[in-house]
Amino acid sequence: MTEHVVIVGAGTGGSVLANDLAERLDAEIDAGDVRVTLINDDPEHVYKPVWLYVPFGLREPEDGRRALSELIDDRIDLVLDRVTAIDTDAKELAVRDGDAPVEYDRLVLATGSTLQPAEVPGLVDGGHDFYSEPGAEALREELLSFTEGHLVLSVIGTPHMCPAAPLEFVFMADAWFRDRGLRDDIDITYTYPINRVHGNPQIAEWAQPKFEERDINVETFFNAESVDPDAQTIESMEGTELEYDLLVSIPPHAGVDMIAEAGLGDNGWVDVDKHTLEAQAADDVYALGDTAATGVPNAGSVAHYQAGVVAQRLASDLRGRPATATYDGKTLCFIETGMDEASFVEFSYDRAPSPAPPSTKLHWSKLAYNESYWLTARGLL
Ligand SMILES: Cc1cc2nc3c(=O)[nH]c(=O)nc-3n(C[C@H](O)[C@H](O)[C@H](O)COP(=O)(O)OP(=O)(O)OC[C@H]3O[C@@H](n4cnc5c(N)ncnc54)[C@H](O)[C@@H]3O)c2cc1C
Repeated sequence: MTEHVVIVGAGTGGSVLANDLAERLDAEIDAGDVRVTLINDDPEHVYKPVWLYVPFGLREPEDGRRALSELIDDRIDLVLDRVTAIDTDAKELAVRDGDAPVEYDRLVLATGSTLQPAEVPGLVDGGHDFYSEPGAEALREELLSFTEGHLVLSVIGTPHMCPAAPLEFVFMADAWFRDRGLRDDIDITYTYPINRVHGNPQIAEWAQPKFEERDINVETFFNAESVDPDAQTIESMEGTELEYDLLVSIPPHAGVDMIAEAGLGDNGWVDVDKHTLEAQAADDVYALGDTAATGVPNAGSVAHYQAGVVAQRLASDLRGRPATATYDGKTLCFIETGMDEASFVEFSYDRAPSPAPPSTKLHWSKLAYNESYWLTARGLL
């Protein structure tokens, strides 16, 4: 009997996992004992970190796209379709375009995050973002012609993808306006929902003086409640109102609806054992990347490490051996601290982050990593 492994989502986590399994299970796939199917609703793979650079005119959205047909190993059955429902009792998936449900023996959910700007009244009309391809392109048009006024960056709700990216954006904007002689005419304000500038206390402590040195205003305990696009104001639940000329937000995030509908977790995030990445509410279901509620940041590096763990566990299981690989919470992140310098952090469930002193070398390391990403996604690096 052929064991069928189905992966839903071919972003960072799903693609790395599929290519890893193709190598790892080469003999079993060749013998017809195992079949691996990867289902994605877009023919292209999207590398989102490129979007940070788009508003500054440094990268194009196309730099973050590659055809999945080129990226995914030939030993994987690539299906371009959207999964619409998960039935963990029948072990099958409903799909939008296919003729019949897809049956699975082992399921991996790697469906990522979705943006929910409509949750905040006025935000869709009044705000910009760099967390989507169209958002980053529209923000570029605004930013390139922004020469004076008040730029507000508001982090609205957590978890959100890449907790470092809002810090990076304001530090880059500050340096970019200074380099162009505009900074004296532009105020920058950063808002964060809790009582510090970042969710992680060590990273917040490291970042706080950088706001002061660069004359970037900070509003903590700012939970955006509504935006008035005509008056150009954003108001918080705590009763603070800020005027803006350009509002950049990190919109509220959620997972995909079918996860909650399948009883796998709230708000589209799958409840998992944070070490094994197995779903708590169903057998033979794993989740990884943003969609797995492990408490670590929603980051591509996390999805990558988790893919390795799930690949090892699946291979052991399919070979009838105990699965022993576990995820230790490893997270790795370069943090841009200007236009030509960056820091670096690495941490895990048991180890707190200690950001490295910013340097040009780390900035170039981040850019080099972004280029080599396409090799890591293929499993070549
Ligand atoms: C601006 C920005 C900068 C970032 N910078 C960094 C960084 O520097 N470092 C870092 O580590 N991380 C960074 N991230 C975060 C990183 O991009 C995400 O955490 C990562 O992409 C998560 O991987 P994933 O596989 O979980 O989900 P994704 O990569 O989002 O992939 C999910 C896939 O599932 C597909 N899908 C969803 N639902 C369905 C369905 N029902 N049926 C079929 N397919 C479906 C989607 O189309 C998508 O292809 C950044 C993110 C942003 C927005």
